[in-house]
Amino acid sequence: MKLSDTLPTVIDVLARATRTATPVPDPRTPKPGARTGCSWCGGAAAWHRTVRGRWILIEHGTWPLTAIPAGKRWRIAGDGTAVNLGSAAPSDTCRITHFDICPARPAPIGSDILLTLWQRNSQQPTDHG
Ligand SMILES: [Zn+2]
Repeated sequence: MKLSDTLPTVIDVLARATRTATPVPDPRTPKPGARTGCSWCGGAAAWHRTVRGRWILIEHGTWPLTAIPAGKRWRIAGDGTAVNLGSAAPSDTCRITHFDICPARPAPIGSDILLTLWQRNSQQPTDHG
């Protein structure tokens, strides 16, 4: 099979994933006792330590790399450390921080997909409700 045969399909899949913003479920669950969830909105997300020692909330699931702006793309290393990818593209998918789409924070600027996710979160009932 030639690459030119499969490329349109790949592009179509990516385009559809971008349009619908369908996250792929992450089978891993947070360790018992670990800090979980967002203390501002009650949303489900997992805390990870960054390479700089800061703690950030990472959303569950992965997104197509091309759908997320450079600088907003994260990867979780084998030891659980959250690594910002910058403009690097080591794989086809990436993670995002909950901070970018937390409905308790201002709407994200400059990214349609992050804004869509933020709006979706805004419409969901929280644990505090
Ligand atoms: Zn939140």
